[in-house]
Parts: sequence; structure tokens; C-alpha cells
Amino acid sequence: MSTLSRRRFLSISAATFGAAAVATQWEPLTRLAHAAPGDAGVVTTPTFCEMCFWRCGGIAHVRDGKLWKFEGNPLDPQSHGRLCPRGTGAVGAHYDPDRIRQPLIRVGERGKEQWKTASWDEALAYVAERMNKIKAEHGPESVAILNHGFGQRFIQHVLKSWGVINIAGASYAQCRGARDTGFMLTFGSGLGSPEPTDIENTDCLVLIGTHLGENMHNSQVQEFAKAVGRGVPVIVVDPRFSVAASKAKYWLPVKPGTDLALLLAWMNLLVTEGRYDKAFVDAYGHGFAQFAEEIKGYTVEWAAKETGVSAELIRATAREFASHRPATIIHPGRRVNWYGDDTQRCRAVALLSALMGNWGRKGGLFVSAGMKIAPYPLPKYPTSDKPRADGADGSQFPFADEGITTSIRAATLTGKPYPIKSWFVYSTNLMQALPNPQETLKAIDQLDLLVVCDTLPSEIAGYADVILPETVFLERHDDLLVGFGRRGWTSLRQPVVAAPHDQKPAWWIAKQLAERLGVGASMPFKDMDEYLAYRIEKSGFDWAKLKKEGVIMGEPKPINVETGLALSFDTPSGKVEFWSDQLAKAGFDPVPKYKAHAQAPDGTLRLITGRAPVHTFSRTQSNPLLHDLMPDNEIWVNTATAGRLGLKNRDWVTLKNQDGVVSNRIRVKATQRIREDCVYMVYGFGHTNPMLKTAYLKGASAGGLNTHYETDPLMGSTSIHSNFVTLVKEA
Ligand code: SF4
Repeated sequence: MSTLSRRRFLSISAATFGAAAVATQWEPLTRLAHAAPGDAGVVTTPTFCEMCFWRCGGIAHVRDGKLWKFEGNPLDPQSHGRLCPRGTGAVGAHYDPDRIRQPLIRVGERGKEQWKTASWDEALAYVAERMNKIKAEHGPESVAILNHGFGQRFIQHVLKSWGVINIAGASYAQCRGARDTGFMLTFGSGLGSPEPTDIENTDCLVLIGTHLGENMHNSQVQEFAKAVGRGVPVIVVDPRFSVAASKAKYWLPVKPGTDLALLLAWMNLLVTEGRYDKAFVDAYGHGFAQFAEEIKGYTVEWAAKETGVSAELIRATAREFASHRPATIIHPGRRVNWYGDDTQRCRAVALLSALMGNWGRKGGLFVSAGMKIAPYPLPKYPTSDKPRADGADGSQFPFADEGITTSIRAATLTGKPYPIKSWFVYSTNLMQALPNPQETLKAIDQLDLLVVCDTLPSEIAGYADVILPETVFLERHDDLLVGFGRRGWTSLRQPVVAAPHDQKPAWWIAKQLAERLGVGASMPFKDMDEYLAYRIEKSGFDWAKLKKEGVIMGEPKPINVETGLALSFDTPSGKVEFWSDQLAKAGFDPVPKYKAHAQAPDGTLRLITGRAPVHTFSRTQSNPLLHDLMPDNEIWVNTATAGRLGLKNRDWVTLKNQDGVVSNRIRVKATQRIREDCVYMVYGFGHTNPMLKTAYLKGASAGGLNTHYETDPLMGSTSIHSNFVTLVKEA
């Protein structure tokens, strides 16, 4: 297969290419270079992107029946007509030669990659028969769903109709859960996705461990780029000189694990110097005096020693962002599960935001607006008298309000509160997403049935009993996306090109499985056209217009004080909780307290991880276009540290963690852009499933090295930055 050069891909931007035959040969670029939308044989169809969870609206171009390019939909509020590199590279997802092509049933030992191909009828009958057997022996709660992505909707729906009650996605406990809990405890509302950060109108942006630009959330990054262009002061707190730091007025190279010390000292300074929003606190604050008393020991000088950031810089930055309030954003972050006390750190971010009085204010955090779309009438789910094993009812962690993946894993290992005998895994690579893959493998050993429904043979698929190959998003319908933001909106996903092999959309798989599980009535519509048209027309909108334009925008509503919003807070006190009685009652610190984390033992370095703008999690490394842009990851090592270790730029090393786990080989990036006491890598690489030929053993897996983790006692999130490594130079 010829590959597209990185420079050429970027220069043509919209990936002006096609494929001569599915998953075999790329058609020479020159043959398509002069084609343009509107040319004979070019069909354009709007749909929304699933290359990540931001779900930007795009327009797919199909020429002579072949997918040709995917670009932004100007009507869409998530893309504003422009896609990020991964979205543009979605064409590569369709043509990815490593896609699973037909249903597979395991014939050998789990993990040995021995399969027989099966018809859909055979594969679904196999799944249904085993699920019904587990139900008869252990009850339906013994089947758990572990999922991610928009297509999960109908899989969840059918399995819930059959009696499943345990459902979790890594997007909660391994990503944004601690943040939403911290904000919920403070303002009575989580933040959701996309985050309601009014970067477009802000006068100051503080990024704590959030590397916008590398972390490519399209509309947010577009607003960030404009803010930088407007000269908005940006303050970046990060052990690494990220791309965002390179645009910043201030870079605070904080010692990993000490961010909460900085936040507490900033808050103490603002209160001591009277730089907070007194009117906001007087009108809406609960327990401010107790809060002020609690934080008064956290002086700037103390924080300077703890964080390694100078007192001068701590003072200057606090005074800078406070001078712009309320149009100041302390970015709440997204993948915030770092050290195991993340809810309290995120609560400190929420409290700092409250001191800025930026809740519901222009240039701060707006209160998202939505729109109402009628539901399709579906039967109710059966009730269960069993407790939940996923912890979503708060039974394991008092402030958890979604299922916790690692709780399902723990229940599978212990058999408590009852045996979990089957996992239905949809579109998530648990071997990289969950901490301690060895624990995941032990849990899999306890299962009678592991079903994986996905587009690619990820590591978890290698252990499946049955693999159900799904279409990529450009080949399928999904449910409507009813989005929240400055205005509510509704987006349509519709197929733009046929699946290249025997892959099927999740809704079809769910409907077929429903029949075989005896809950066919749970999917009482013929197809998605019928389902979607009903919802849109019942809501008073034009179905034909939506199919043509892809997006319906909701009516403008007040989203901040400036547009007429009256602030209210859904906390127990009805106010912003500087002091949290509910935390105190549950035995937790009502105001965040600093507790030092273990630092890297001598001779080791803390491993920190992040994202690249051209890949999503561990899901895109085999995409031919994105692989070409970034085929593997590097390990960032401070130049001085590298010198001490006898390493130079581009050397090959392996990483060995404190538990003796050794990574695949990875190249050294010797750089002054990182502190001396830590190393950094982009996660998602180092694939070990040989069926994923393009990405197999390219780079190292951060997830594989995450064997030690701390669990947040408030809501169950698991840390990703608690491992220490040594670097072993390859002979
Ligand atoms: Fe697709 Fe990029 Fe938007 Fe994610 S941010 S949905 S990958 S265009």
C-alpha cells in the first residue's frame, strides 16, 4: 500500500483522495486532484463525526460510489465548518485494512487469536444462547455492559430491556467523572460535554494540565486559537512545556502531584488580598467564612516549596487572572484522574471559579442550553431487586452517579455482590483504558462469555469469545445527537457509503439480538429512517431538511447573566458550597485539604501521559492516514536527565515500572520542555493484538505501565499518574 506523505496530507487538508478497492490500494492522488464538490458523480451528505466524542458535524463527499473526503459542516456548532486532523482522517477509518470484516467466534484459547468466521445469524445465536443460559443460572444482572461512543445507545437499550443493570464506560471513572463530581458538589451541576467554557469571550484562560491544541477538541481549540490571536493572557500549569504553554504568558512547571497545593495557595492569596468577587460570594456563597479559615494555612511561600513554582510566579498569576474576573476561566479539564484525590482537586478548581464569580458569566462558564426532541415510544425496562455492582447508585463510592468500570471488574473478580459472568464490550479497548491490565485479564478468566462489538481488533477483542464487527460512523445511522451548548442543537448521523465487508451498524446488531434474546418488542421500529423521522417530525421539525443539512439549531436561551439568566444552584443549601455539609456528613473534607503524594523514588521518574492531535485513545493508530502522520509515540525526557542516563535524542529505550512491567521499545525525545523528575508520553500506542497489523508493536503503551493506581474515595476514579519508571537503553 502506498502511503500519503504527512506534508502532502496536511497541505491538501481535506484529504483529496480515494481508494481504488476497499482496504487494498490507495488510488494515486493525481487522478483525483482536480475533482471538486459539485463535479459530476460527487454526492455530499451531512453526518456527524465519531473519530472522537466531540461529535462535530461534517459533510462527506462520495465520488462514483467511493468515499473521497470528509470536511466540516458550516452549520454545525461543534465544527463551524472545520474538522480536526482526526475528523478529516475519518476517510481512513472506512478504508482501514485492519478492520474486522465479518463475525468471528473463538475456537482456541482466549487471547490466542484463533477464530472461525461466522454468519451474523450464527454469531448472534451463539451470543443469545449463552446470555440466556447465564440469565437462567445467575440472573440478568450477571451480564455487564462496558461501553463507549455514541453507538452504545441501542445496545444498552436492548440489554437493559433484557434485564442488564450494570453498565459503565471509562469516560466516567477514567476521565471526566471526578471533575463533574467536584463541580456538582460545589455548584450543584456537573459540566458535561462539551464543557461550557466561554473561551470566545474570555479575558484570561488558566489551563491546569489541560493541553488544548494537543488535546484536540475542535470548537474549543478554535476558540482557544482566536483567544491567543486576541492577545488573551494564558496561564499554563504543567510539568511539560506543552503547545498551549508555548502560547502562554505564564508557564508554571509544577512538580507532578502538587497541583492542589497551588490551587489552595492561589485561593488563600485571593481571599487574603480581597481579590475575589465579594458580591458573588455574598449573594450565592455558603460557608465562606469556614472555607476562608480552612485555607488560611496554605501560604504562597509554602506552596512554592511544595510545587517547585516560585512564590513570585504564584503571586503574579493569581493577580493576573483575578484582575480579569468574572471573564476568567480556570479550565475544568477533562481527563482529570491523575492521583486518586481528583474530586477534591477538581472541587478546588470549582471553588477558584466561584471566587472569580465566573459561573453563568460572559467570558467565564456559561450555563448550557439544550433543546427538546420527542422520544420514540419504547417499552419500559424491567425492574431488578438486586443491588448494582457498578457502583452507580453510590453504594461503593458515595458521590458516584454513573457506573464505574473498575467496580464491575472488581465484582467479576470477587463474585460480590453476585457473580458477573459476561461482559458485553462495545467500542472500548479495556486493555488500554483501564488501569492494571493484569487485573482485567484475571477478571476475563472468570467470564463465561466475553462479547466484543467494535470496528477494529483491539487488544480486548483478542480475548473475546465472539467479535461482532461494526460499521464505522460514515456507514451507519445512529440515534439523534441532542447537544447542549450556547444553543441546543440536534445532529443527524446517516450512512454516506456502504460498509466494505460484512460489518453491521450497532442499531441493527441490537435489533437482531433483541429478537434472539426474546425482547424483540424493545425495538418496535422497522429501521432507523422510521425511528428518526418519527422523533424529528413529532418534535415539529422537517425530516427532509435535517437529512439535507445535518443540523437543527435550537432557539437562543439565556446562558449567562448578561443574556438574562437568573442564577440558581441545585446544592443542598441552594447556594455555591464553599463549605460542603454533605462532604462533612459523609466523612470527607468539606474544604479540600492538601495531602502530599509519593514522589518518584531515587533513580526513577514519574510517568505522565497525554494526547496527540492526530489520535484518539487507542482507537486510531491503524488508520492509514493518521498512522502516517504519527506512527508511534516518543518518551519525552529532560535533556539533563537524558544526559545523566547516557541517552540522546532518538535512542531506543524500554520503560520498566515499579512493578517490573516492561514496555515495548520507544524512542527518546530529549527536550528541555519537561521537568527533570518526570517523563511524558502520548497514550494509546504499543498495540499487542497482531490482527491490528498497521499499529502492532508501534510505540509503547502507557496503559500497560499503569499497574499501580489510586482510587478516589468519593466517586471511584482511578489514577493514571501514579507510576514510576526507569529507562533501559536498548543494546
Ligand atoms: Fe471528529 Fe475532531 Fe470533531 Fe473529534 S474533534 S469529532 S475527531 S472533527
